[in-house]
Amino acid sequence: MPYNQITATGAIAPGVAPTGPDAKQIRDLIDRELNSNGFIFKWVSKNKQPYRGILDTGGTPIDLYIYAWRIGDGGRIRQGRISEKRIQLNPGTDRSAFALPITPTQKTLLLGVYDSPHGEPIFSAWDATNIDLLKATQKSEWVQVEDLQKAISNGIYQFKDSDGNIGYSFLPSYLGDYIDLVTPGNTLTVPSSTTATLSTKVKTATKTHKKARTIRSTDAILKSISNVDETERRALTKQRVGQGYFRELLMNKYGCKCALCGITTKQMLVGSHIKAWSDCNNTEKLDENNGLLLCAHHDALFDKHLISFEDTGDLIVSTTLNASEQAELHISTIPPITVTPGMKPYLADHRSKLK
Ligand SMILES: [Zn+2]
Repeated sequence: MPYNQITATGAIAPGVAPTGPDAKQIRDLIDRELNSNGFIFKWVSKNKQPYRGILDTGGTPIDLYIYAWRIGDGGRIRQGRISEKRIQLNPGTDRSAFALPITPTQKTLLLGVYDSPHGEPIFSAWDATNIDLLKATQKSEWVQVEDLQKAISNGIYQFKDSDGNIGYSFLPSYLGDYIDLVTPGNTLTVPSSTTATLSTKVKTATKTHKKARTIRSTDAILKSISNVDETERRALTKQRVGQGYFRELLMNKYGCKCALCGITTKQMLVGSHIKAWSDCNNTEKLDENNGLLLCAHHDALFDKHLISFEDTGDLIVSTTLNASEQAELHISTIPPITVTPGMKPYLADHRSKLK
């Protein structure tokens, strides 16, 4: 009988373990995620474990020691542990960083990456200061595939490993926040008294740092647009500098759902400018009032000015769409939107281009 795995639909069923990611892919993933959302990360060394780097979270820079391996099957299938997953600590690994204290400016991480076929890899983070890790006899850390799967719907999820230690599973976008918040014993400094989800608590706890990062990254983007010569400017314009940042603003504003139909599939969601990007000045390009978070279908309708909205939020449909087209496009299912005062000038511009 094979081990339980996460399937392409995010369910759990017996199957074959994902083969990757390899060490380079893991480092690239860490690099990419820690240089997203305004975090700034630089490797100090990455030839062998523990990898080292400096992470600027928007607060004090953190000196990081990173142990990271792929998460594979648990190896104890004969004992009926068909949901068990593990990382394997190589006997030759330099374990000295497990003895270092976790402080606000220095942290050791113990990470696993499961190359989930549902869409994005899932991280597991164990307590890197667990004393057993200093012993060469400690060869693995464990997690149940059900605990990994919970990251898909929860974003970040706290579990207890088989030794009773606190661990977390999370989607890659939580890596920076996890590092920002992790304290000794692998606990996170999040509000304890509310009934909010861990994901919400994490976002609340990182809010101040996030704001600092957002301001800094906006400044950097605006600077990168204005401090270039005309040729470069055109190249940057093609890349739509700041598009990722803009989309993130809207993901937050609209709760990661299409503003018109509620689709939550991240890969389908676009930060759609109300006033066309090419007509915007730098500030307008990055103004969340100038955006709607839309799925690909609704982005196409809106971007091509086949639909627009009144200041009241009511839908307007282009007269170029006949009744049968409107039916095919499910236009009648589009609800009114919430229009804030800051959105009105942009909507006026959009309406003026309605076909
Ligand atoms: Zn939609």
